[in-house]
Amino acid sequence: MSRQVKYIFVTGGVVSSLGKGIAAASIGRLLKALGYDVTIMKLDPYLNVDPGTMSPYQHGEVYVTDDGVETDLDLGHYERFIHTSMTADNNHTAGQIYETVIKRERKGDYLGKTVQVIPHITDEIKRRIRKVGDTKKYDIVFVEVGGTVGDIEGQPFLEAIRQFILDQGRENTMIVHLTLIPYLSHSGEMKTKPTQHSVMKLREIGLQPDMLLCRTDRPLENSDRDKIALFCSVSPEMVIEARNESTIYQIPLSYQKYAVGEKVSRRLGLPDRQADLSGWKKFVDKVHNPTQFIRIGICGKYTELRDSYKSIIEAFVHAGVDNDARVELKWLDSEEMTLDNAGKYFSDISGLLVPGGFGERGSEGKIAAIHYARCADVPFFGICLGLQCAVIEFARHVCGLDHANSTEFNNKTPHPVIDLMETQVNVSELGGTMRLGAWDCRLEKDSLAYRAYGKMNISERHRHRYEVNNSYVDQLQQHGMRIAGRNPASGLVEVIELPDHLWFIGVQYHPELKSRVLDTHPLFRDFVRAAIQHKENLLDKEIEAGVDENSPGR
Ligand code: GLN
Repeated sequence: MSRQVKYIFVTGGVVSSLGKGIAAASIGRLLKALGYDVTIMKLDPYLNVDPGTMSPYQHGEVYVTDDGVETDLDLGHYERFIHTSMTADNNHTAGQIYETVIKRERKGDYLGKTVQVIPHITDEIKRRIRKVGDTKKYDIVFVEVGGTVGDIEGQPFLEAIRQFILDQGRENTMIVHLTLIPYLSHSGEMKTKPTQHSVMKLREIGLQPDMLLCRTDRPLENSDRDKIALFCSVSPEMVIEARNESTIYQIPLSYQKYAVGEKVSRRLGLPDRQADLSGWKKFVDKVHNPTQFIRIGICGKYTELRDSYKSIIEAFVHAGVDNDARVELKWLDSEEMTLDNAGKYFSDISGLLVPGGFGERGSEGKIAAIHYARCADVPFFGICLGLQCAVIEFARHVCGLDHANSTEFNNKTPHPVIDLMETQVNVSELGGTMRLGAWDCRLEKDSLAYRAYGKMNISERHRHRYEVNNSYVDQLQQHGMRIAGRNPASGLVEVIELPDHLWFIGVQYHPELKSRVLDTHPLFRDFVRAAIQHKENLLDKEIEAGVDENSPGR
């Protein structure tokens, strides 16, 4: 018997940034724990075709899938929480939807009809949602709608959902609405009116929520719950208190206190099952109760924009749990760092990570930070641009290639150790010109990377234009750099290491995109372990030299 797919629509009201993505991912985790196959889609009402060309100030991290699409950072939360790999079918923007419809119109596919938001845009939205359900790979498909109810550009999406629910039947669909219950300190009260209004807005379009997740910073009183239930026409047991938590990984457990998984599955007519959240609980317990502490420096350009490094930050939470450590991240501004002052930034960090990035700004600071890490034997992890800067640093200071650089930063450099591949040189259109998505890599036996992964053949996700220039590889190797991994088909460099160093790795790909709860990326795990080792080595040396372990500054 083919399975009846169930759909859960997640909408938001009152204000943005309430954490709809994490809410969807958390309920998804609970349903997974009940044994259901789950996936989550995100519908973004903005008109950009994808977030690839949007500024990090606008959009935060661009999350890349195996099949090479640049998507919203919420897809990262989905993968980390539900362990389902996302694809191009999991993220759609209004830009893509309009583009498809307009292209069809130009081809004459609409046979002379007037092309309109209803039904043509809404049909295209419904087709994209149905496509995921029709794979029959999932029991439950979540559909998160970006923005808040009432946004003009979100209207076609909500209208499409209204029609979709009619097509599929109320019993196979449900709406979870995330809302804010503000507390007014001057009157000492929680206010339910904004929630009532946002639900009113939903009902105006013909959408009746089945469950309300009420974001609050204090307990929701029963009287408020009953009031919300009454005014919003939702049963009181479906009005869920969604408190702020110190870690996002606590959220599924908090929801579970209200049996959210069971309530959702019952509402969808799915059989009652026993949830198994034991592994997740252990993980969260370790996040809360680490036995040690380690500080890692991250040297990048957007230090004030933590959303740009979302997956890296989360990968360190995962890696901390594996090492029984709390990893604190210290943000180092690459525009402040120089070869002369780098040392002072290293006094209280035990490892350096240089993340991905674009453009020349801050590149010399990153190179300076790497120089210090290399010379002082501080564990170093370079990701994408981080690898490229490590190659530039090594070429300049070890191989003696003065002014070696990436042609991204200086296209007149005498030594373009990082360069465009020939196939890229004449491409000028932004978007779609990068090496994107999963590429194979073959690791060298006995490399640090091989030891971390425990296998030779790996596949990792990419997002970059520039590459290590293979015509310099012999020189780099002669001076002691190890090419620890290459793409077998193209020969492009994927992993570099310095075997004489405690732990020094650069990767051309983005390992952070594949780190998940209870499935930490092995390079992050080993990097944190190396940082702990480095800290212990330093302590041993100081003890040997008679420095008091409890002295200030330790
Ligand atoms: N700007 C570099 C490139 O395009 C690195 C990109 C990145 O770090 N993701 O190759």
